[in-house]
Amino acid sequence: MCMGVLLLAGVFMLSREVVHVVAQNQKAAKTIVVDAGHGGDDPGMVTETLREKDLNLEIAKRLKNYLEKAGYYVEMTRTEDKGLYEPGSKNQKAQDMQNRVAFIGEKCPLLTVSIHQNSYPDSAVKGPQVFYYADSVEGEKLAKCIQDCMNEKLQVESPRQAKGNTTYYLLKKSPGTLNIVECGFMTNPKEAELLQKEEYQKKVAEAVGQGIQEYLSQNANSL
Ligand SMILES: [Zn+2]
Repeated sequence: MCMGVLLLAGVFMLSREVVHVVAQNQKAAKTIVVDAGHGGDDPGMVTETLREKDLNLEIAKRLKNYLEKAGYYVEMTRTEDKGLYEPGSKNQKAQDMQNRVAFIGEKCPLLTVSIHQNSYPDSAVKGPQVFYYADSVEGEKLAKCIQDCMNEKLQVESPRQAKGNTTYYLLKKSPGTLNIVECGFMTNPKEAELLQKEEYQKKVAEAVGQGIQEYLSQNANSL
């Protein structure tokens, strides 16, 4: 009798553990990491009135909302104006980048999207651009899906193509599939104005989110 109870208790505990592990795996299978670029002491690109880190966070939060409504778990590298480094430490930027890569590694996501804003000396240059690691087949597929959705949904006048890159730290070092999404140019006055508007930020987030969904539906059988 006693053995029976122990055995039952054992089976119960084991099954709880199995359920927990299965739940964790299911979660990982539907997790997307959204990285809001810069933060804290690192403002990213700065103009007279704008800081890149603020726009990145706003758009990243809106992307999180969109993806959660679509049924995904979203893990954000930051949810406030903070970098991923210990305050006062040397090499804050290197520590910040290493911690972002480690964060992505821990979450084992389906994919990661890092949100940034672009800049260029010629203020006429504008429009979104998506970057992938040049050797990553999946990264390229994802980037094409996101770029196409942004070009279409944001009615971009002179659409760009997604671009391969081998030098950006996150592209080089991150495990899995990662894209850097440059939503627009802070150095173009018209685009800078749009990027501050809630409606436009939502549109950008939706375009990125739809691109992600398009990529995942194309790869539904292979992932
Ligand atoms: Zn940036």
